Amino acid sequence: MEKIIYMDHAATTYVKDEVLKEMQPYFTKYYGNPSSQYSISMENKMAIELAKERISKVINCSPEEIYITSGASEADNWAIKGFALANKHKGNHIITTKIEHEAVLNTCRYLESMGFEVTYLPVDKEGFVKIQDLKEAIKENTILVSIIFANNEIGTIEPIEEIGEICKSKDIVFHTDAVQAFCKIPIDVRNKNIQMASLSAHKIYGPKGIGALYIKKGIKIHNLIHGGAQERGKRAGTENVPLIVGFGKAAELGIKIMEEESKRLSYLRDKLIDKLLQIDGVIVNGPVGGKRLPNNVNVCFQGVYGEDLVFLLDREGICASSGSACQASSMEPSYVLTALGLEKSLAKSSIRLTLGLQTKEEHIDFVGDKLKEIVERIRKNN
Ligand SMILES: *Cc1c(COP(=O)(O)O)cnc(C)c1O
Repeated sequence: MEKIIYMDHAATTYVKDEVLKEMQPYFTKYYGNPSSQYSISMENKMAIELAKERISKVINCSPEEIYITSGASEADNWAIKGFALANKHKGNHIITTKIEHEAVLNTCRYLESMGFEVTYLPVDKEGFVKIQDLKEAIKENTILVSIIFANNEIGTIEPIEEIGEICKSKDIVFHTDAVQAFCKIPIDVRNKNIQMASLSAHKIYGPKGIGALYIKKGIKIHNLIHGGAQERGKRAGTENVPLIVGFGKAAELGIKIMEEESKRLSYLRDKLIDKLLQIDGVIVNGPVGGKRLPNNVNVCFQGVYGEDLVFLLDREGICASSGSACQASSMEPSYVLTALGLEKSLAKSSIRLTLGLQTKEEHIDFVGDKLKEIVERIRKNN
């Protein structure tokens, strides 16, 4: 096996050299506690401010509205639990969808066990939330809507602007898990009426274990982590300065190349989809064209297990995924695909290929050819 062809950029990405380089001094030279008074700590404090400024620019908010977390899972937990607990006197109903990331879904299930009421909106066969369904789900006691910006499995970009407008008109707070959209498609929290958004560094060539929650000024949420006064008193714990610096640098570099890279990836995505469609019994999951993340390909191969494909692709040096990384070890089909209306057996025949900076045009041809070969071999042996 020669080189790895990595087509799982929605699961995680490598750390760019420039990002690592900017992080390094904060492990060794500037190791002071940002809360201390001497100058090596001042350097840290300023580095955190710069990172927040860089992150805030990507989503059009103020740096003071960015709160650092250990990743998007924590941000999702914090946004939903923290808001629910701080606002339960106003109501106990939350609206989300059936195709959220597990960090949102399992948080909502937990809140249900604590007496909150949750509506899980269905989606259409391409994964879009229907605005009419949202309107009908809103009740007197609805306090929060949490809808994913762009889905991690099938790439569907939700009608965020309309959702924001409805929430605004009903005076309901709107949280979005924007991890997969961040630095891939434009996000404007100010103009789209988004009050909270979850972000992660390791999906944009930054380090793992660091993310952020954007909380609009004036929105009240309870702390998840109590202790010292870090993050303006909202999240305790000594700041992980090197990782925060890496996150900021990754965001700065990511937004710089976003437009160009999106164009390049959309072209490669469509080329790969066209190539796969030439294989018999192939079904594309998620939308075709503009309302799909530029780097997402998700298809079913009828009569073939996705898990077998991932295993056999791995032997050829190709990294792909069946289901999302978090549930890939379970034998259940993807709940995102079953929410689209796919039969269980069909849903189990899916694989996801997500493209990124490492993807070159020749990889598209190579992966397309290998998949054809593998699928035909499996079918012949069945
Ligand atoms: C990866 C991902 C998460 C989890 O982010 P972590 O930083 O790994 O906790 C949450 N939501 C979506 C949509 C993701 O793709």
